[in-house]
Amino acid sequence: MKKMCIFMKISIIGTGYVGAVTGACLAELGHDIIFVGRDTKKLDLIQSGKSPIYEPGLDQLLEKNITRISTTVDLPDAIQKTALTFICVGTPSNDDGSIDLDQVRAVSHMIGKSLASADVYHTIIVKSTVLPGTSETLVIPILEKESGKKAFVDFGVASNPEFLKEGTAVVDFFHSDRVVIGTNDVKSRTVLEELYKPLNAPLYATTIRTSEMIKYTSNAFLATKISFANEIGNLCKKMGIDSYDVFRGVGLDSRISPHFFRSGIGFGGSCFPKDVRALIAHARTLGVEPQILTAVIETNEDQPAKMIELLKHHMDITGKTIGILGLAFKPDSDDVRESRAIPIIEALHKEGAKIIVYDPVATNNFRHLFPDISYAEKAKDVLNADAVLIVTEWKEFEDLDYRGKTVIDERRIGKARKESAVYEGVCW
Ligand code: NAD
Repeated sequence: MKKMCIFMKISIIGTGYVGAVTGACLAELGHDIIFVGRDTKKLDLIQSGKSPIYEPGLDQLLEKNITRISTTVDLPDAIQKTALTFICVGTPSNDDGSIDLDQVRAVSHMIGKSLASADVYHTIIVKSTVLPGTSETLVIPILEKESGKKAFVDFGVASNPEFLKEGTAVVDFFHSDRVVIGTNDVKSRTVLEELYKPLNAPLYATTIRTSEMIKYTSNAFLATKISFANEIGNLCKKMGIDSYDVFRGVGLDSRISPHFFRSGIGFGGSCFPKDVRALIAHARTLGVEPQILTAVIETNEDQPAKMIELLKHHMDITGKTIGILGLAFKPDSDDVRESRAIPIIEALHKEGAKIIVYDPVATNNFRHLFPDISYAEKAKDVLNADAVLIVTEWKEFEDLDYRGKTVIDERRIGKARKESAVYEGVCW
């Protein structure tokens, strides 16, 4: 029997990676979406059926569902016209690693004010990654104070953390391993169960606080697995063992799983580094010293230097031109936040190298970080450098001609392994 769906009117606050993907995918499920943003250029793009970020499949989804999509900078108006609001704003790190909740706080005030005059029951869903307790001790008190209404009586609140992977975010939405729903009342839970029913994904319903902790625990575990893989990878390299062969054998154990064992130069991106740091900072406020998580970050920070160390075994890099292939923190994304290319370029600068870089989509986002290095138009232009460091595994790097080149590879590009005159893998 075909499942009945109730189509809803939904506001999405924040049009970054999470907001854009969530809104487009919910529109695909048949819901009416109002994207609320601050940057009118991004909103104009969405309104014309184009994605404000590089994410495979997103343009097509926006274009296909454009009749169900509208955009605005007017948050109160969006709240009045909808029954559901997803908070998808950023939760970056403060300088001390703790979580910066300014964006969440600001939108909570605005939503609360708008709720005061809302005449339909509205459910607010926190999708931004926030520390356990944030919805209950920050978001709900602000909403109640500004609206003069009572949470779980006059409006609903839920936590629905996001687990998408940039580069495969659209596929991830429609084929989730699980959807986590954190609620403290039946009504909010029913709304979210209804919303996600068409996905046929396992729904894990829990309390708001537990849901928030599931997100941090997942990211902390995956980051730990990567740092562990890198520590073992460094050891393997010293012993002349290929760590990929080791992890292939290890991953066959069903208790362990083969995923997240790609040893190399560590994790970057907008989530793992900031979320692990936020959890560490939070643990310390609770009087807990998180020794494993601290080591995870330390290992991760040391790892990019391995590429430079390996390169220095083969040449004095002062005055040499070093090419970097890949700037995005991962392939199929234009996101350069905490990309491993950043510490590598900083280290090369210190060594007095000249630098030429290439990335198929992330160059514009990277240029403002390092305006003075050379940006190549094509990947093959980087190969003219004295040595090449492969930092992101873009598919097109598999097709380059590496013959006669000196290559330090952190992404295990098969052709580079086979062809380069001098080749070093970071952990193999
Ligand atoms: P992002 O920085 O790409 O997007 C956040 C957006 O919120 C920005 O476009 C910003 O302009 C907008 N915003 C901030 N204040 C606003 C306001 N008052 N009104 C309207 N828009 C406003 O961030 P992101 O990568 O999409 O991440 C969002 C949240 O989701 C974060 O908490 C992040 O940790 C979490 N998350 C991200 C990912 C990911 O892969 N990027 C995955 C899971 C969870």
